[in-house]
Amino acid sequence: MQVTGPRGTNDILPGDVERWHLVEERIRSLCRIYGYHEIRTPIFEHTELFVRGIGEATDIVEKEMYTFTDKGDRSITLRPEGTAPVVRAYLEHKLYAAGNPTKLYYLGPMFRYERPQAGRYRQFTQFGVEVFGSRHPAVDAEAIALPVHLYQALGIKDARVQINTIGCPECRPAYRQLLKDSLRDRVDQLCPSCQRRYERNPLRLLDCKEESCRRVTADVPTIYDSLCEECRDHFDRLQVYLEAAGIDFEVNPRLVRGFDYYTKTVFEFSSSSLGAQDALGGGGRYDGLVEEVGGQPTPGIGFAVGIDRILLAMERQGAAAPAPDGVKVFIASLGEAATLAAVTLLSQVRRAGIPAEMDYLGRSLKAQLKAADKSRARYAVIVGDAELAKEAAVVRNLATGEQAEVSLAEVTLHLKEALK
Ligand code: AMP
Repeated sequence: MQVTGPRGTNDILPGDVERWHLVEERIRSLCRIYGYHEIRTPIFEHTELFVRGIGEATDIVEKEMYTFTDKGDRSITLRPEGTAPVVRAYLEHKLYAAGNPTKLYYLGPMFRYERPQAGRYRQFTQFGVEVFGSRHPAVDAEAIALPVHLYQALGIKDARVQINTIGCPECRPAYRQLLKDSLRDRVDQLCPSCQRRYERNPLRLLDCKEESCRRVTADVPTIYDSLCEECRDHFDRLQVYLEAAGIDFEVNPRLVRGFDYYTKTVFEFSSSSLGAQDALGGGGRYDGLVEEVGGQPTPGIGFAVGIDRILLAMERQGAAAPAPDGVKVFIASLGEAATLAAVTLLSQVRRAGIPAEMDYLGRSLKAQLKAADKSRARYAVIVGDAELAKEAAVVRNLATGEQAEVSLAEVTLHLKEALK
């Protein structure tokens, strides 16, 4: 029986991979423009990092992690997100020593045991940034501006930006209590997950998608009246800075996001073209996380955007797919001596940076020229016995049929000129 790929994983095939390259190149170029440096962390980490970093009462840690015991009896987890690993690496390698703010980005696969559907997979790719060492709300504005810039540059026209604040350890406990008090009599009307959240993580009740929960929580107080002065000021200034940077946004008091580590600012990007799984990305400030993972108190902020979803949105909005790089030269030969010359030519032409192929199927000269046409090569180089005797080859323009005899030593130079 044929083995298939695991549920929730995707093969990215030739023809599709060019779009991935385009997105990846845009990301790398934007990170250069915005001053972020790439960091590559392992695909797996000690499980404890995520339990401490993401929080025990989160969906990810409760039910979505790919966790296993390795042969050395250690509990290992395939990374479900990028922030905790980057924080760990930041501390382990004392990246702060070079002077904060430290601005890092990552791009790579993440793993979550979720129910697969369009736009939601068990292995997916995220691009994210983390900034350490600044409490300034202008950094929050930058962390929102960069993905917006990326979406625009990729032709996603309808990316919606929502922001909120969830306060800090100073002011959030009072709001949690207020929220719980206001729902005390109606807990039994909440969905089973929200009944659990009521005790452990009541803010998450605010973004439950269940219609019944929405009804029950419709009139609960927002956090805004409970914010401490610092959080209030931070949120106000963030909005002023976003306007100054020309970013359109909406304030959504129900936006809370699924990680425990956030403080103050949270934000999310979405696109209506994506359907049910409409989140393009999101992030927030995490001023307590570095300490949680074992470092000195250090403020931080970051975002993660889903590359799979970006590609889906691009496709649905008809953004052009780049054409695959084609072969430019096909070297046709017949007989062992000519093939030897062809191998030498192929090596020279490729080293000159020209995409080239030769026949590997032992076809007739006629069939090789047909293959050259089919490959959409612009030139064929034909090495026949007669030419070989003169240390030469025929270079044929496959569009016009024009051809010239060129000495073997000059073929590469001739092609370089012709392809200019
Ligand atoms: P999160 O790390 O949960 O904040 O997710 C950030 C972004 O990653 C989301 O907005 C999605 O675009 C993407 N993402 C998260 N989970 C998945 C998944 N299971 N499959 C595909 N993309 C995902």
